[in-house]
Amino acid sequence: MINLISDTVTKPTSEMMEAMLQARVGDDVFKEDPTVNALEEKLASMFGVQAALFFPSGTMANQTAIKLHTQPGEQLICDKYAHIYNYEGGGVSFNSSVSCKLIDGDRGMMTAEQVEAAINPPDFYHSPLSSLVAIENTTNKGGGACWNLTALQQIRELCDDHQLAYHLDGARLWNALVAKDQEPKTYGKLFDTISVCLSKGLGCPVGSVLLGSKEHIEKAIRIRKVFGGGMRQAGYLAAAGMYALDHHMDRLKDDHQRAKDIADVLKQAAFVKKIEPVETNILIFEIEEKVLQEAEFIKILEQHQIRIISMGEGKWRMVTHLDYTKEQHQQLLSILKQIG
Ligand SMILES: *Cc1c(COP(=O)(O)O)cnc(C)c1O
Repeated sequence: MINLISDTVTKPTSEMMEAMLQARVGDDVFKEDPTVNALEEKLASMFGVQAALFFPSGTMANQTAIKLHTQPGEQLICDKYAHIYNYEGGGVSFNSSVSCKLIDGDRGMMTAEQVEAAINPPDFYHSPLSSLVAIENTTNKGGGACWNLTALQQIRELCDDHQLAYHLDGARLWNALVAKDQEPKTYGKLFDTISVCLSKGLGCPVGSVLLGSKEHIEKAIRIRKVFGGGMRQAGYLAAAGMYALDHHMDRLKDDHQRAKDIADVLKQAAFVKKIEPVETNILIFEIEEKVLQEAEFIKILEQHQIRIISMGEGKWRMVTHLDYTKEQHQQLLSILKQIG
């Protein structure tokens, strides 16, 4: 089976399992788990921020950030592709009672001009008060696209001018850092809060971390508690994160290269109508239905035990990852060539 539905399908390597088994643990709800504490300190220092907090999921880390930056009735600004808007179960409204002002960006990325136009004037009490701008890097629905730093900086300045909080959903920030050769500290300086995920490209079974100021993270602990995200001997999971940060970061470039290899083959294929530019480990493409019916395509994939995911509107997504081997890669490329 070649499973490219997501980079979340990976299982811990035996070395990672060994690191987990050796973990020193304690009760993290009392902040007494040494491994969770070490992971939080490691990430805070990596990003040059004051504090960090371990979460059971990226969704909960994002939702916590939204909750701490907003009051009920307010509005956040994000791209129409944003994970927080599309794929977090409506948590923005359920958890924080805020609405989203959606921007029609490019591959999930918007310009400072677009953000500025989306800010409601604070003295105009008829419209919701804008309080937060949330961006995503890399963009998921945007096909793993990476922001350029100038655009992020311009939005930062806008947030300062208009007293808006600025959150980064960095579920795949590691991929952007590796692809663009950027430093975590650059992001630590730009944003009020950042969520990063350990269970995507880095290959951990569980875990995300929220980064920010001491003040924000102290509030975040309470919100995490309310959301039911306080975990006890979570050090077994944090140990996987520690291991992954040390051993699984550099290899992300292999995932990126493989996604590019697949794109190169698909570019030649008659059954493919369009491929979005590949910058990291995500590849989004559309089928040319005149050449190959979608139902037929699904059948061929099933025959070869290949799993990829439909994004709706005729779009398909493949995501390369740690458990996608060199052998599987060669096999997939030759199958795709055969389909023609
Ligand atoms: C995966 C992902 C998340 C978090 O999802 P979980 O399934 O809760 O870990 C958040 N944002 C983006 C962009 C993602 O791709």
